[in-house]
Amino acid sequence: MAKKDKMVYYFGKTKTEGKGGSKAILGGKGLNLAEMTSIGLPVPPGFTITTEVCDGYYKAGKKLPKGLMDEIQDAVKILEKELGKNFGDNENPLLVSVRSGAAVSMPGMMNTILNLGLNDEATEGLAKATKNERFAYDAYRRLINMYGDVVMGLHHEQFEAAFDKVKKKHKVTEDTEVPAEGLRELCEAYKAVYKKGTGEDFPQDPIKQLQLAIEAVFGSWNADRAISYRRIESAKGNTEINNLIGTAVNVQAMVYGNMGDDSGTGVGFTRDPNTGQNKFYGEFLINAQGEDVVAGIRTPQPVAQMAKWDKAAHKELMEIKKKLEDHYTDMQDIEFTIERGKLFMLQTRNGKRNGIAAVKIACDMVKEGLITEKEAVLRVPASDLTHCLLPSFKPTARNAADVLCRGLNASPGAAVGKLAFTATEARERFEAGESVILVRRETSPEDVEGMSAAVGILTSTGGATSHAAVVARGWGKCCVAGASEVEINEKGKTITVGGRKFNAKDTISLDGTTGEVMAGEVETQEPKLSGDFAKLMKWADEYRRLSIRTNADSPADSKRARDFGAEGIGLCRTEHMFFEADRIIHMRAMILAEDEDARRAALKKLLPFQRKDFEGIFKAMKGCPVTVRLLDPPLHEFLPHEAAAQKQMAEELGVKPAEIKKRGAALHESNPMLGHRGCRLSVTYPEILEMQVQAIVEAAISCAKKKIDAQPEIMIPLVGTAAELRILREKVEETIEATKTAKKFEGELNILIGTMIEIPRACLTADEVAEHADFFSFGTNDLTQMTFGYSRDDVGGFLPDYIEAKIVPVDPFQSLDTSGVGQLVEMGVTKGRSIKKKLKVGICGEHGGDPASIDFCNSVGLDYVSCSPFRVPIARLAAAQAELKS
Ligand code: PEP
Ligand code: MG
Repeated sequence: MAKKDKMVYYFGKTKTEGKGGSKAILGGKGLNLAEMTSIGLPVPPGFTITTEVCDGYYKAGKKLPKGLMDEIQDAVKILEKELGKNFGDNENPLLVSVRSGAAVSMPGMMNTILNLGLNDEATEGLAKATKNERFAYDAYRRLINMYGDVVMGLHHEQFEAAFDKVKKKHKVTEDTEVPAEGLRELCEAYKAVYKKGTGEDFPQDPIKQLQLAIEAVFGSWNADRAISYRRIESAKGNTEINNLIGTAVNVQAMVYGNMGDDSGTGVGFTRDPNTGQNKFYGEFLINAQGEDVVAGIRTPQPVAQMAKWDKAAHKELMEIKKKLEDHYTDMQDIEFTIERGKLFMLQTRNGKRNGIAAVKIACDMVKEGLITEKEAVLRVPASDLTHCLLPSFKPTARNAADVLCRGLNASPGAAVGKLAFTATEARERFEAGESVILVRRETSPEDVEGMSAAVGILTSTGGATSHAAVVARGWGKCCVAGASEVEINEKGKTITVGGRKFNAKDTISLDGTTGEVMAGEVETQEPKLSGDFAKLMKWADEYRRLSIRTNADSPADSKRARDFGAEGIGLCRTEHMFFEADRIIHMRAMILAEDEDARRAALKKLLPFQRKDFEGIFKAMKGCPVTVRLLDPPLHEFLPHEAAAQKQMAEELGVKPAEIKKRGAALHESNPMLGHRGCRLSVTYPEILEMQVQAIVEAAISCAKKKIDAQPEIMIPLVGTAAELRILREKVEETIEATKTAKKFEGELNILIGTMIEIPRACLTADEVAEHADFFSFGTNDLTQMTFGYSRDDVGGFLPDYIEAKIVPVDPFQSLDTSGVGQLVEMGVTKGRSIKKKLKVGICGEHGGDPASIDFCNSVGLDYVSCSPFRVPIARLAAAQAELKS
């Protein structure tokens, strides 16, 4: 680390060094503590140690950099002076909290230490200063426990056992009933546990405590759960999380929510993170410390009830809500503490919310004049729109549902699945293809893998701001929390609700929007796309340059995609039309045919099916372009491979099973993805191309006669040389003319003929290819496969290891590899347009629905992206964001 780098930033009355600083360096929490201090909110003073120090700590083999402890000592001195308290003082000691805080929030994944600075003497001092001996010893025992646990890695059970002993001695059952004297004994017992476990005395020097605590927080940056969380977030497209260099550490003067019944602590959102409603959404606990709320051990009260308890504090909190939203112009997620009636702000950050809430908050804030329409468009993460497209339960099915109980509506959506009782079990069963609901008493950060695998999460304790709820909401996963009527037997793998027992084989349904838990499978339905959603989409459409098409091959999918706003079909995979029972038989007869005549006879039977499908799709797309791709997959994909199925096919076609086996063997390829497929099929069997083109043209003619505007485009797949396209284009043109003549149709059809660009050679020679193409559509699935040399079908065997080892940052089949595959795309566009300036260019690989890839497509001048119907709204928003950011 360079010497000039400042390692410690102070915030308080004396000075606020981090104000307007960098989140990457101060972390989210550190920056916001400085910001809140600077706008005059009541923040306990403290200082932030930068993320660069964490990075340096790891680079130096887990050693704190030289000079850090000196800078810290200086900051401590200012803090002591400002508060008139001294570290380790036996009259009125300074106590601090030590918390993590990366630039991207990772809720609950890293370590926190509270009450730091207490030692034997300072505890006496705290008892004197607060006139509350019980409180002081309670704080001390919490510190020894937390410190032993977090810093030294001792097991919590040893402390628990010591606590039980003390409770027994004093004949009480609850922690809160243990008298001061008992807690004093407990501190001695805890120190003994500490010494036994670590071989050392509990450190009495507060600066030493502080140093070790800072190292422990840095250490938790690379704890398993933190690594898992980053990996899962990264796989979900949170690329920001990949760029973090470490966590900052915030050292802040302690304030106490557990000083009696005039104290309390709470967490909340300035608006409802589930629905987006402009209503403070939070919870508080009287006489408790912050960790008690988030850990979900005690069930807190809603903040709406707070005025009844402390009117002034509630009023101040509501004023702070407004100040914060005015300052940040966004919904905030806050933590606060009330110490003897005085309110303190401990944290604020932009609140996580699901897509539904994100859309409403963005639209409302435009109405309130806090942000502009443009900002609203940029505000909603495009992939979170999925939440608006989430299914809900059918009202009729819901009314008839067998409701078992109601918990808290912690994260919306509808989930149906079988019960899984541990994170590992949830993950394993998910990998085996099951839909599972993870059922836990309360979730802990260790459960993240299981939470990610489950379709829904159900907990029996904890509030709407518990770990389970926060994580689930961030992921748009349905969650019902704090369903106290659910008794969980983790060992026996059963739950009991109202006397009824359910096991791992039983299905339940969760309504994350109402909090209801229902027995059995309740039927779900698709969402509505009106109101704020439609408004945001309209704004997005005003700002985007790219057109959005869809990949669809049935009238039903086409209609759905149009409802989602698709402006055309970018890829109609015709092979999907051959698989239905009444068609596959003719397809197979065609494949078995010995000569061209027999093949044509079979194709003739397929033609009416194709024509009808195309007509349906053209009609559904109402004048929007429809790119139909000619047959692409290798023929063996249409033949059965199992003996029983081969026998059945033989019977249907009146041939011997041996014949089918033989044909299957003849079509066998070692690398079928690189084999006899795509345009190569049409070169060998032009009659297939002829049938498909004839069906397209006849469907277009039929539409024209019915005054239905049809805009077909014929796309030839897997072209690698200009000659392939030249030959096949001629064939297509001949067939169009022949069909028009046969149908005696003299009108204009205006059918464009283009190609998919999905072989690297086609990109390298795109100028030659463009001579014969009216349009290009990048098939980035195959292009990625061939550029990387990774087989699309076999990548699962090693890709997770590649991502883990950071050889590739993300799955290149999901998010376009802009530096490699992207170069080919860019070259294809440039070379293609060097021949035809106005060449229409799009993309129809999976990347067409991925926001990061869409940003790239926008930057290289593509005309459209095409993606699955459900991703069309995401693509519309992502395209607008790309253009606004460019
Ligand atoms: C592609 O390769 O990107 C593509 C869209 O075609 P398919 O996935 O059908 O090979
Ligand atoms: Mg392809």
